[in-house]
Amino acid sequence: MRADYTLSRLYVTDAITGGVQIELPKPQAHYIATVMRRSEGDAVRIFNAEAGEWRADIIAASKKSVSLRVETQLRAPEPMPDIWIIFAPVKRARTDFIIEKSTELGAAQIHPVITARTQFPKLRLDRMQAQVIEAAEQTERLDIPAVFDPVKLEKMLTDWDAGRTLIFADEAGGGQTALEAAQGLAGPAAILIGPQGGFTDSERDILKSKPFVRPVSLGPRILRADTAALSMLTLYQAASGDWR
Ligand code: SAH
Repeated sequence: MRADYTLSRLYVTDAITGGVQIELPKPQAHYIATVMRRSEGDAVRIFNAEAGEWRADIIAASKKSVSLRVETQLRAPEPMPDIWIIFAPVKRARTDFIIEKSTELGAAQIHPVITARTQFPKLRLDRMQAQVIEAAEQTERLDIPAVFDPVKLEKMLTDWDAGRTLIFADEAGGGQTALEAAQGLAGPAAILIGPQGGFTDSERDILKSKPFVRPVSLGPRILRADTAALSMLTLYQAASGDWR
């Protein structure tokens, strides 16, 4: 059965299974009862990666609390493409955009990385978490992308699992085209996007020396980091991901 898009959709961390009762956390209770004006007897959809998506009925609702009873499963859990986005944080509005759009485009993990020219190294993990949940709720995905605190590029490369291809968007050019790189991918992958100031020559050298790194070009124009992130994820999903 396909989901009924008119029903509000909520990510829950509780174990979901038929017949159980779930208390919504306050912000979600407020959203359902006050913003959406739902009350006892109305239905909602709840989901998480482990249980898929379920219909649940409201059995009690006040301004501060909403209780649900889980009814029937609407969607079984689904495997997701194993693609990460790694980006150097840029100005707040553009960083917000990258986080939201990466969630819509199906990134499994979102990693901020600190490079030599990164100008906005501070990100709040709780804020990122709230952003990916909101974006996942509206985009009909079943899982929530995992978000992480920023790490330095060097550390990230030292700790890298060599089985994951790192697609390095290199504004200096000279690599494969992004489409070629996205097409040949069999296993797990990650996309690396630099900051507004780009990568330094020494960062570029280190990246290129790693066997798991594939430098790619996104064409003759310099794209802003947010445009580059979206373009690369789009190419990946079309060529090797789940756009079928
Ligand atoms: N200031 C730099 C550009 C940085 S753009 C310069 O003038 O050269 C921000 C990031 O987006 C880059 O680090 C790179 O990861 C990606 N990017 C932008 N345009 C690109 C292109 N044409 N090819 C590959 N990557 C690109």
